[in-house]
Amino acid sequence: MQRVGVLGGTFDPLHLGHLVAASEVAHRLSLDEVVLVPAGQPWQKPRPDLAPAEDRYAMTASAVADDPRLRASRVDLDRAGPSYTVDTLADLRDELGASTELYFITGADALAGIPTWHRAEELPALARFVGVTRPGHALQVPAVPVEVSLVDIPALDISSSDLRARVAAGRPIRYLVPDVVDRYVAEHGLYRGTAAR
Ligand code: ATP
Ligand code: MG
Repeated sequence: MQRVGVLGGTFDPLHLGHLVAASEVAHRLSLDEVVLVPAGQPWQKPRPDLAPAEDRYAMTASAVADDPRLRASRVDLDRAGPSYTVDTLADLRDELGASTELYFITGADALAGIPTWHRAEELPALARFVGVTRPGHALQVPAVPVEVSLVDIPALDISSSDLRARVAAGRPIRYLVPDVVDRYVAEHGLYRGTAAR
């Protein structure tokens, strides 16, 4: 039986915190692969300054290109409307087959929100959940009827919000993101107009 991790996110931009979460859970849970799924339209925090979906996908895909355990998926980009995890998991299940076990990975900050997710009651049938540690956020099993395991990962206090603010302020993001992402952000002029937030 195949065991596949799923890391959903805005990836605006992808950073080393995302990669460490994916890599560490892949190792700890002996997963065959982890699929990184950039949201098309994030439904919980719509931002007018969100980078184009194709840019967020390109950064994610190029960052994982050399790691056979990680890949990027377009399922959320190719589906119209807001990106809901319930649809992400259903699409991946169709793609990978019903016998594949899915493990949805989420940072400690997002874990507590699971009960508020669209059609949350359908999630337990689609995947198990894995909560990973994140600096500044307590890791607790949320009060939901989904199976959640908690995994301690190396602490990287990096967030995409901070990276966007850094670029807007002319500060470096090198060594906080993969080199290929650092170059992509510079070449495409991403985040330069983002006000610090
Ligand atoms: P933003 O600041 O825009 O919210 P972010 O850094 O939180 O960006 P997301 O794309 O929102 O990145 O996160 C995708 C997933 O990765 C979420 O489940 C989030 O909790 C997790 N994650 C992000 N950064 C880290 C980190 N440094 N350590 C552990 N988990 C992380
Ligand atoms: Mg976030």
